[in-house]
Amino acid sequence: MLTKKKTKLPIEALINHLKEYKDAVIVLGPDIIKDTVYCEINEGTYDSYNRKLMIKEPNKFWNFYVSKVMMPMAATNKMTVQINKLIDMNIHSCILDTNIVKTVRDDDKRDDLISPNGKNNILECVKCHKHLEAHKMVNDLTEIQKPLKCECGGNIKPTVLYHGEKYNMNIYKAVKDAIFTEENGKPELVTHTLIFIGVDFTDSLVSELIDSYDALKDDNHYTVIVTDKLSREDIYYYNPEFGVTDDIDAAIKRLIDIIK
Ligand SMILES: [Zn+2]
Repeated sequence: MLTKKKTKLPIEALINHLKEYKDAVIVLGPDIIKDTVYCEINEGTYDSYNRKLMIKEPNKFWNFYVSKVMMPMAATNKMTVQINKLIDMNIHSCILDTNIVKTVRDDDKRDDLISPNGKNNILECVKCHKHLEAHKMVNDLTEIQKPLKCECGGNIKPTVLYHGEKYNMNIYKAVKDAIFTEENGKPELVTHTLIFIGVDFTDSLVSELIDSYDALKDDNHYTVIVTDKLSREDIYYYNPEFGVTDDIDAAIKRLIDIIK
């Protein structure tokens, strides 16, 4: 891919842009909860956490879920505190949280939040899509002997995806709709700013978003990357207008102070 030649923009350009459009999509990644001990869903968890086990051996499945996947329910640290303050600035249209642990305040009550990988405190009926709060059902879950059913007759499953499970179609569509639209078969952007905070760029959804956004954006669309992991050279591979390699909480705090 060719790199576009750009002159360095001042931070004021970003602030004015955020205030003018108020339609940023904020993408949150695992580095904002790296000090939290939680169970990452990967090949190693597959034998204990999969659909077949949920149906055949529900007791084993739900006990693993309660003791490993569900805990801890929330992460609170310097970074999540600043991110919640940034969200309060109302410069966004959507928050895309790739973490399974709760990081955003009132996560189950917000309509500006999409969690493509699911949330470890939320279960869902596959039929009527009703949500249930897992932490309020701990005793029932650990004693379960039969597959968990909703009053509508549908199966209840965790919203946290199993390793290798595809994104829920509705959620995948919501993610796309927050960023892209199609006019006469031609893709266009609906957000003027994509802000990546502590994300893992090897995550397939994240890399798809940043590449597609980069391919479509013009001078009026900004990509912002905040990371404490990548070097400046690594960041510029992704062609952001603004890239910060610093402590995440300090970087966001500076941004908030200028927006105010
Ligand atoms: Zn149901």
